[in-house]
Amino acid sequence: MGISSCLTGQRVRYDGLDKFNALVAERIAPYCRLLPFCPEAVAGMGIPRPPINLIQTADGIRALGRDKPHRDVTGRLLTVADIFANSYPALCGYILQSRSPSCGLNTTPVLDPTQQQVLDSQGSGLFAQRIRARFPDLPLLNDTDLNEATIERFLHDIRLRAMAPGLRFKQ
Ligand code: SF4
Repeated sequence: MGISSCLTGQRVRYDGLDKFNALVAERIAPYCRLLPFCPEAVAGMGIPRPPINLIQTADGIRALGRDKPHRDVTGRLLTVADIFANSYPALCGYILQSRSPSCGLNTTPVLDPTQQQVLDSQGSGLFAQRIRARFPDLPLLNDTDLNEATIERFLHDIRLRAMAPGLRFKQ
């Protein structure tokens, strides 16, 4: 099961810190083989690193530097997502860090080009978007969705997927 690395306690965030999640450690990790993955670190953006935001541009939504908006890491993040998807076709689920411009699922703010105004508070990070597109049926949760009921359902869903004779995988 894929998981944003920072949720497992790895210090990979842009500020060099983690987002350790006790529910993941206590209620999910004992039942799954976790595959921690940080798309920004794997994309070579460094730890710590300058923060990025999702920006609505004339070319669509792009990941640009918060302080250096000419720095566009969109292509890098999408490439990393494709490499990940190609490497793990038997993925059974993914837990994502909410609000992240890479990992957030329907929780990430999309800003206007001046980065002053939120145009959409329910955007998805570029990595999360690409994973959802490549694995349309994959059980996905944000860390902020985790509670007893959603964890039970999620574990049930990923068990079913793990037992499926042929995993569906969109090229
Ligand atoms: S949210 Fe995603 S990109 Fe950001 S630190 Fe966590 S794993 Fe890395």
